[in-house]
Amino acid sequence: MSDTSVASSVVSEVHALLQRLGVPASAYEGGDLAVRSPLTGQVVAHVPQHTPAQASDAIGRAHAAFATWRTVPAPRRGELIRLLGEELRAAKADLGRLVTLEAGKIPSEGLGEVQEMIDICDFAVGLSRQLYGLTIATERPGHRMMETWHPLGVCGVISAFNFPVAVWSWNAALAVVCGDPVVWKPSEKTPLTALATHAIAQRALARFGSDAPAGLLELIIGQRDIGEVLVQDARVPVLSATGSTAMGRAVGPRLAARFARAILELGGNNAAIVAPSADLDLALRGIAFAAMGTAGQRCTTLRRLFVHESVYDQLVPQLIKVYGNVQVGDPRTEGTLVGPLIDRMAFDGMQKALEQSRALGAKVHGGARVDGLGGPDAYYVRPALVELQKHEGPALHETFAPILYVTRYSTLDEAIAMNNAVGAGLSSSIFTLNMREAEQFMSASGSDCGIANVNIGPSGAEIGGAFGGEKETGGGREAGSDSWKAYMRRATNTVNYSTALPLAQGVKFDV
Ligand code: NAD
Repeated sequence: MSDTSVASSVVSEVHALLQRLGVPASAYEGGDLAVRSPLTGQVVAHVPQHTPAQASDAIGRAHAAFATWRTVPAPRRGELIRLLGEELRAAKADLGRLVTLEAGKIPSEGLGEVQEMIDICDFAVGLSRQLYGLTIATERPGHRMMETWHPLGVCGVISAFNFPVAVWSWNAALAVVCGDPVVWKPSEKTPLTALATHAIAQRALARFGSDAPAGLLELIIGQRDIGEVLVQDARVPVLSATGSTAMGRAVGPRLAARFARAILELGGNNAAIVAPSADLDLALRGIAFAAMGTAGQRCTTLRRLFVHESVYDQLVPQLIKVYGNVQVGDPRTEGTLVGPLIDRMAFDGMQKALEQSRALGAKVHGGARVDGLGGPDAYYVRPALVELQKHEGPALHETFAPILYVTRYSTLDEAIAMNNAVGAGLSSSIFTLNMREAEQFMSASGSDCGIANVNIGPSGAEIGGAFGGEKETGGGREAGSDSWKAYMRRATNTVNYSTALPLAQGVKFDV
């Protein structure tokens, strides 16, 4: 197929998918936001954007919805998410394909992203009957003390391009069962998958019935100025913001200034340690997926590898071979494991980091643009493996592209210190068969990240655990475990069922 016909096949497939998913043509034609497919770099849609006033109106509708939604019993709220899960199951193939066309993921990852949405729906349905509070021993006779959890209010969601739909669902599924309406501002690079998800959610709402108020699930399309409307609005008491640390630096203080709750899910600079006892074959496969999967565009992508000096010469040449052989290409082509970068900015950022590495004397394997793929505006690269003598320079910062910095180490303490010596604190892992090393890595004096794995890479989390990281990753937690508490307010209730009025701490106040 010629370049032109490949490009037009992307456009027509995107339009056919949007139509099948129930998105009206007016939502992706004739607007001023040009959406490109990274597969070909071609514009595939023109999406109308919201004005700040329209975004504010959407928040107003969600705020009004809160008054009724918070009184709907939580298990009934869970029923809406059960229906959403059903609709997502029905739409999985189409939505997964759209993720591939709009974000460039290989098919199994596009489908995997939708599966993650289904998984969090299942989790949230169960959660809707488990929003437990504690009963607490009180020091006063004839009293009872307990905690109750109540809906908090409108939950804003700002999401990044690289998980264009899953991040919304991690937040929305929990927020909705917790009694909070949701207003979503997706990445301006991936509005089409957001429009499709919104259409799917509307089908669940229609089936649910009239006790779901209008305004429960709102979508606002635009650039960062539209995100800022969510950040500034006092009617949004909790905001989950996923994206770069630079975005978090802008958003965090503004939320703090109005005492809003922030769930910040920011950049990562994730490492893995390969210890002397590691199963090297397993480590090789774990590293390959974590470092090259999603073309290095996951927040949990493996970016720094510390290999013990006793196994370096065994592992690293094999890894370099895998880097040289991995199939880079159009994700629609059978066998492709590494798709395109999202855009030119990502490509330029990658090349800059590789130049900085060379200037430090590093040995760079791969990293060049793959010619002849996708057209002049598509950016396919061979993943880069960079042998760095010292852990320094560009390795200390996240570059959102497939670059793996590899450095030797001698002692585990040294490797853990390097693991922790960066601003970000999202994910980490160790490959070892030595129980002492594994436990030390996960202990208080081990990895300082929100995720610390053993014998798997740092990427590819499942929804059952709380997801998020420390330091410049922002400290937020989403998805499983008790992450739901961020979407609710806690009330401590003390009830006196006696005729006396004893005061706590023996205080006397007789009037
Ligand atoms: P980005 O920061 O450019 O944009 C993310 C979102 O924030 C977009 O919707 C954007 O419009 C919005 N935004 C940007 N500045 C804003 C502001 N000042 N006010 C309000 N909204 C604003 O990020 P990106 O390039 O889309 O995504 C890649 C980054 O996201 C990487 O750093 C990656 O590590 C990170 N990420 C983190 C997680 C996580 O869970 N920790 C998950 C996915 C991606």
